[in-house]
Amino acid sequence: MKNMDWSNLTFGYVPTDYNVRCYYRNGKWGEVEVCSDEYLKLHMAATCLHYGQEAFEGLKAYRCPDGKVRVFRMEENAARLQSTCRGIVMPEVPTELFVEMVKKVVRLNQPYIPPYESGASLYIRPLLIGTSAQVGVRPAEEYCFLIFVTPVGPYFKGGFSTNSYVIVRDADRAAPLGTGMYKVGGNYAASLRANRRAHQEGYASEFYLDSKEKKYVDECGAANFFGIKDNTYITPESTSILPSITNKSLMQIAEDLGMKVERRPVPEEELASFEEAGACGTAAVISPISRLDDRETGKVYRFGDKPGPWSTRLYEMLRGIQYGTVEDRHGWTTVVIE
Ligand SMILES: *Cc1c(COP(=O)(O)O)cnc(C)c1O
Repeated sequence: MKNMDWSNLTFGYVPTDYNVRCYYRNGKWGEVEVCSDEYLKLHMAATCLHYGQEAFEGLKAYRCPDGKVRVFRMEENAARLQSTCRGIVMPEVPTELFVEMVKKVVRLNQPYIPPYESGASLYIRPLLIGTSAQVGVRPAEEYCFLIFVTPVGPYFKGGFSTNSYVIVRDADRAAPLGTGMYKVGGNYAASLRANRRAHQEGYASEFYLDSKEKKYVDECGAANFFGIKDNTYITPESTSILPSITNKSLMQIAEDLGMKVERRPVPEEELASFEEAGACGTAAVISPISRLDDRETGKVYRFGDKPGPWSTRLYEMLRGIQYGTVEDRHGWTTVVIE
């Protein structure tokens, strides 16, 4: 982009030229439409506005050192959206439609894909909402699936670094058999109060325990958690954790690097035994954790002020695959622009 200052990008919203949309009516998906309007015309009784029939996804396109633009594991995002659709009774977006629309919206907005050197990337936000007008509580008949993109800055401005978090017991992100494993806006609304307090207290984010017993580790804000000890990558298993594609990829890379991988309930006390710990997700890949403070018990878990050796290796491997500089053994990336 001629007048774009890539160095000042944050995780905000910058308008781009086009978004793509597809409507579900009469039991089927229509044609993909290219749109230059940033606004949606929505009925005031649409189910997404009242009863939370809203699902989203998040992924990125990277301008790579070889000049190509790659998207990371978009079929996994399509599959997760389909799972969310089943979870809150919306029609599933077929993988082929999802992939076609991701490719289209990235290609249409080429001038907004940040150059490799900037460390910035193009964030892709698919959104599915129930649009039919009704006041009764039941699934909508009509839906809008939309994808927009916006350039976002690098997560680590001063280089790969650590953050501290606070363990909360006075708030839950999701119920054990609720919508925690689905990517729906309601989970985020539920997290805002605890998140604001954590920020006010100087933490990067709030940290959740399981909502039933407050005994096991759940999510690190809106990111998955992992701990490392004895050459083992350990990540919690629970019915309220959102299945992170970054975490899934890190588990595979850990295995490729010869680590053991465990996905199981992680009791809070076990935090004291981890040599390294981190939060993971598309935004940062890995955000290493320096300390976790338990607000209620006063316990403090420390993992070092600098990213640990395993976290650094995992981070560099995954980033390398995304940027086409490390061999993509598992076929995770798709070149969208040659
Ligand atoms: C999106 C999300 C993540 C991260 O998933 P990725 O696929 O790795 O980006 C983790 N936790 C929650 C609650 C999320 O919504």
